[in-house]
Amino acid sequence: MHTVIHLPVADPWFVCERAGDGITLVTEPHVHPLLRCNVWHIEGRDIDLVIDTSLGLAPLRHLVERELANGLLAVATHTHSDHIGGLHEFADRAVHRVEAGELSEPVTTFLESSVYDETVLGPYRRAGYQIPELFVDAVPPGGLEATISEGAPVPATRLLDDGDIIDLGNRSLEVLHLPGHSPGSIGLWEESTGILFSGDAAYDGPLLDELGGSDVDAYVSTMRRLRKLPVTVVHGGHELSFGRERLIEMCDEYLALRA
Ligand SMILES: [Zn+2]
Ligand SMILES: [Zn+2]
Repeated sequence: MHTVIHLPVADPWFVCERAGDGITLVTEPHVHPLLRCNVWHIEGRDIDLVIDTSLGLAPLRHLVERELANGLLAVATHTHSDHIGGLHEFADRAVHRVEAGELSEPVTTFLESSVYDETVLGPYRRAGYQIPELFVDAVPPGGLEATISEGAPVPATRLLDDGDIIDLGNRSLEVLHLPGHSPGSIGLWEESTGILFSGDAAYDGPLLDELGGSDVDAYVSTMRRLRKLPVTVVHGGHELSFGRERLIEMCDEYLALRA
C-alpha cells in the first residue's frame, strides 16, 4: 500500500536516450538510483530486443515497440522486481533457467525504503547516497495506485543458458551466465561491437552481493570472467555506461575485497 500521494506528476514518466549502435536507453529519472533500472532497447533486422523492463510503474512497451519490427523479445537479466515490473507487457519473455521459478511467483514492487534491509541499503549509504523514505520523487500520469504492478506471475517463454545465442538477424548476442548478485544473473555480449549488457553483475554504482540468493564465491568467478572480456562499452543494469578501463578497475576492487 502506498500512502504517500502528495508528489508531483511526471509526464512523460520515462526518458529515452539514443546510445549508438541502434541501442536506446529508457529510464525513469524520478526513481532513486537504487531502483532505477536501465531498460535497453536494441534494434535488430528480424527482431528487436528489450533488456529489462523497469519497475512497472507506467506502461513501457509502446516506447520500445517499432512499427515495422517483426518481433520483440524481452530479456530479464535477473528477476529482481526493479527489472521485471513491465515484463507482463511482453508476449516473448526470456530469463536464465535458474531464475525461471521466480517468474512463476507473483511480482511485488516496493517503493518504501523501510521495506529494504541493510544488505540493500548499506552499500548505497556507505557510498554516500541519501536514502529517502520513498524511492520515487514524482508519480507517473496515472498515479502510483493505478499503475503499480499487480503482482501477476509472468512465466518465461524462453529459458536461457550460458552460451546461448540470441539472434536478431543482423546482429547476435551471447548469453553470459554471471551469477553472484543473483543466481541467474546474465549478461548479453555482442562480440562484433564489444558491447556488454551486464545487468546487475556490473554497473558503476554500489554492487550488491549480500542479498538472498547472492553468492560471493560465484561473484568472484564472475568478476574474473568479466575482467578478461574485451569490452568496448558496458551498458549496466543501473547508472551510467562505462568502458573497459572502468570495468577492470571495478573487477579489481571487487576481487581485492572478496577474493
Ligand atoms: Zn538486482
Ligand atoms: Zn537492479
